[in-house]
Amino acid sequence: MSERWQDEQLVVRGVTDARVLDAMRRVPREAFVPPASRAEAYADRALPIGSGQTISQPYMVAVMTEALRLVGSERVLDVGTGSGYQAAVLSVLARDVITIERRPELAESARATLAALGYTNITVIAGDGTLGSPEHAPFDAIVVGAGAPRIPDALKSQLSASGGRLVIPVGPPEHQMLHVVTRDGNAFTDTPGLGCVFVPLIG
Ligand code: SAH
Repeated sequence: MSERWQDEQLVVRGVTDARVLDAMRRVPREAFVPPASRAEAYADRALPIGSGQTISQPYMVAVMTEALRLVGSERVLDVGTGSGYQAAVLSVLARDVITIERRPELAESARATLAALGYTNITVIAGDGTLGSPEHAPFDAIVVGAGAPRIPDALKSQLSASGGRLVIPVGPPEHQMLHVVTRDGNAFTDTPGLGCVFVPLIG
């Protein structure tokens, strides 16, 4: 069963993966937005979360999550923790989630939000996510929630060699394309898809 906001924003646009819809129904998005934005938590757009950053539009979270094709056993890296919402959705669908945020104050508040909600399989790290997390690699899936001028080599090299998947918005600050990179041994397949606009990945 999907909720009305999901039918209107996700299902009509082609997001039909039942596990993704279920995960997004279970994660309380209102807990990840500032109190003043609670009434708009499920609006069809990104919302400000402070420090000039945003929590991504529900549709973008759904598309990126669906593209990772998680079955439940994965170790996932989430770059650009922001509010922690994407990390929470991933944590419902995978075994464990490492999430990296460059702004210490956002890392701290995401850590507090996630702990208060009882998520125990998420590790929040303050640092530069373009470097990935070598000590936690390899990752079955990596998702980047900020627009990158190009795909960081460190993220590709930290993908699992057997079918690791990276979903990342690539392009100039004004407009990016969502790329899906799949690794098989030392071969990488890069498929650009949907157009999108994210805050910049810095680093
Ligand atoms: N996924 C988030 C939204 C991310 S907004 C959510 O669900 O709320 C993008 C985030 O990426 C911002 O918080 C920004 O500070 C962070 N960011 C930008 N460059 C980064 C980098 N190199 N490493 C880690 N985080 C970065």
